[in-house]
Amino acid sequence: MGSPWSELLANLAVVAMFVSVWIHTHVWLDRKPAAIRAAAFGLLMGAGAIILMLTPMQIQPGVLVDLRATMIAVAGFFGGPVAGIIAGVMAGAYRAFEGGIGAFAGAVGIAAAMLIGVAGNLALRGRSPTMADIMILGAATAAGSLLGLSVLPQSVLQIVLPKVTLPSTLLIFVSVAVSGLALYQERRRLEALHSRRIFKAVVETLPDCLNVKDLDGRFIVANPATAELMHATNAKALIGKTDFDFYPRETAQRFRQDELAILATGVPSTIEQHLHHDDGTDGWLATLKAPFRDKTGAVVGLITHNRDITARKRLETELAESRMRLADALAQMADGLVMFDQDGKLVLCNARYRAMFPLTADVRVQGADYRDILRASAARGEQIVPQGTVEDWIGSIVATQMQASKRQVRLTDGRWLDVRTRPTGDGGSLSLFSDITEAKHLEAELLVANEKLNLLAHRDGLTELLTRRAFDEALALEFARGKRSAIPLSLLFIDVDWFKQFNDHYGHPAGDECLRAVAGCIRATARRPTDSAARYGGEEFALILPETDARGAFVIAENLRGKVRDLGLTHAGSEKGIVTVSIGVGTFDPGSAPIEIADLLRRADEALYGAKAAGRDRVHGWRPHLSEPHSTGGRRRL
Ligand code: GH3
Ligand code: MG
Ligand code: MG
Repeated sequence: MGSPWSELLANLAVVAMFVSVWIHTHVWLDRKPAAIRAAAFGLLMGAGAIILMLTPMQIQPGVLVDLRATMIAVAGFFGGPVAGIIAGVMAGAYRAFEGGIGAFAGAVGIAAAMLIGVAGNLALRGRSPTMADIMILGAATAAGSLLGLSVLPQSVLQIVLPKVTLPSTLLIFVSVAVSGLALYQERRRLEALHSRRIFKAVVETLPDCLNVKDLDGRFIVANPATAELMHATNAKALIGKTDFDFYPRETAQRFRQDELAILATGVPSTIEQHLHHDDGTDGWLATLKAPFRDKTGAVVGLITHNRDITARKRLETELAESRMRLADALAQMADGLVMFDQDGKLVLCNARYRAMFPLTADVRVQGADYRDILRASAARGEQIVPQGTVEDWIGSIVATQMQASKRQVRLTDGRWLDVRTRPTGDGGSLSLFSDITEAKHLEAELLVANEKLNLLAHRDGLTELLTRRAFDEALALEFARGKRSAIPLSLLFIDVDWFKQFNDHYGHPAGDECLRAVAGCIRATARRPTDSAARYGGEEFALILPETDARGAFVIAENLRGKVRDLGLTHAGSEKGIVTVSIGVGTFDPGSAPIEIADLLRRADEALYGAKAAGRDRVHGWRPHLSEPHSTGGRRRL
C-alpha cells in the first residue's frame, strides 16, 4: 500500500480520463433524445466509478477508499436524476459484489454522493450551473464521503481516519471541482457554438442583403441574398471584389460615394438607392449603412443592410398616378361631388361642387362639418329653407345622407340642383349635385302648355264655352252632388231663334260672330263659380246652375234672354227684327219624385220646345201635365 496521496492522485487521473472521454464523444449523441444522452452519461460515469474501485487504496481487506463519489455526484449534477441513479446503482452493485467489512459504509457513501448530485441538479431548476454552484457541489460531495467513512466499524475507523480523511476529502473536492469545470466549459463552448450556428443560419436565410466591406469597398463578408442581388454565382464569389466588379460603372460610383459619405461622418444612416444592372434590369433598395469597427473602436469597414423595395416603389408610383388620374377626373366632372365620413365631416369634394355654392364655397372644405355648412348656407340666404326651424331642416337633410336618396335643392338665385346620395362602405356618404335649372324651366313651360292643351280639349274653339263632352262631365258631377246633398239643380237649354235664316242672310262668318256674342251673354249671366256654360251643339247652348231651383233658374233665364235682346243684333230673317233666344228650363227638385240625368235633359229640352212653339224669344219651364204629350212629340235631340 503506497501513500494515500499518490494512490488517490492516480484516481484523479482516471476521473479526468472519463470526463474527457465524455467531452470528446458526446457529440455523437447530439441528435439523440435527452433521456438517451442522460443514460449514456450515467453509464459512462458509472463505469468510471467501477474502474476507480478497481484501482483503490485498500486500507485493509474490504475497506476501499477512492474517488468514486466524484463520478456519481458529477453524473447526477450534470446529467440529472437518470444519469445520477444509473451511475449510483452501477457503483453500488459493484461495491456490494466486492463485499468486505467496509461494504455498508461504501453503500452509504455512494448513496450520499448520488443524492447530493441529483439534489444539486434539481436545485438548479434547469439553469446552467455557475462556478459557485460547482464549488458547493465539490464541498458537499467531500462532506458526503466523510459520512461514508463515519459508518465504518469502530476498529477500522481508528486506523483509517487519521490516514485518509484529509487526502480523500480534499481530493474529492478537487476532482469534483476540476471535472465540473471541464464540463462547465464544455457546456459554455456548446452554447456559443449553437448561438453562432443560429446566427449564421439567420444571416444565410435572411431575404435581406447583409454584408461587410473594408475601407476600400472590398467585400469581407456577404450573405447569399447579397450575391443574388448582385447577380454573383454565390456569396464566396463576392469576397475581395467591389461593386465595380458587378454593377455598371455609374451605379458603382454612386454607391461608392454614398459609402464614402457615411465613412466621413461615421454615423449610420438609411438611404434609398436606385440600382441598374448591365442586363438592363433595375430596382430600388432601402439601404442601411453603418461603420464597422474593430475591438479598439477604429473604423475598419462598413456594414450594409439592403432591402429590395422595388415592388413598394412601383406601388407608390402607381398610387401617385392613380391619385392624379382620379383628381383629374374629379376636376373635369360636370357634376359636383362631395363625400362625408360617418361623423358628417367633409372628406372630399371637387371644384365643381364648390362652384355650385358660391356663397358658401369658403366653408365647403375638407374637415368641415355638414351641419355647419348647411347652417352657413341658410344664414347667408343661399338656399331656400322650407317652413320650420333651420335646425329641423338640417336634421332632415343629415338623416337622408344615411341612405340612398334623391332630393332637389332650390337656391335663392333661381337655380335648382338635383342631389343623389349613396351611403359609402365606411358609414359615410357620397352625393352628386347636378344643375337642373334648365330642366326645371322646361318642366314649368310644359306645365303651361299642358294646361293650354287641356283647355283646348274642354273648351269650344269658337265661343270658349265648355264643349259637349266637358258639359256631360260637369253635369254628371253636379247632378250627383245635388242628389247626395239634396240640393236642387237647374239646367237651361238656349237656342238662337231663326238662326238658319241669319246664316243664310248674313253669311256664315257673321253667324259665328253672332254665336260669340250670345256666348258672351251666357258667360255674363252665369256668375257663380260653380255655374258651367257649354256649347251644346251648333247654335244651341246649355247652362248648368247648381243649387238653383226652378224659380231662380227662371229669373236667370229671363235675365239672359234680355241680355241677348239688348245686344240689338239686327236679324232681317226674324219677325222680331233682332237676334233673340228661346230658353227651356229643367230642374231637379230633391223634394219631388227622384229622376235621372236623362230625365233632367229631357225636361229642359221639352221646355225649350215649348218656348219655340209658343212663339220664340221666351223662357219656358217644364210642366209635368203638359210634358207628357210633348215627350213623345216632335222634339229632335235626345
Ligand atoms: P229655330 O228658331 O227653330 O231654332 O230655327 P233655326 O233656323 O235656328 O233652326 P235650325 O236648328 O234648323 O237651324 C240651325 C242652324 O244653325 C243651322 C246652321 O246653319 C246654323 N249653325 C249651326 N252651327 C253653326 C255655326 O257654328 N256657325 C254658324 N254660322 N251657323 C251655325
Ligand atoms: Mg237649333
Ligand atoms: Mg235655332
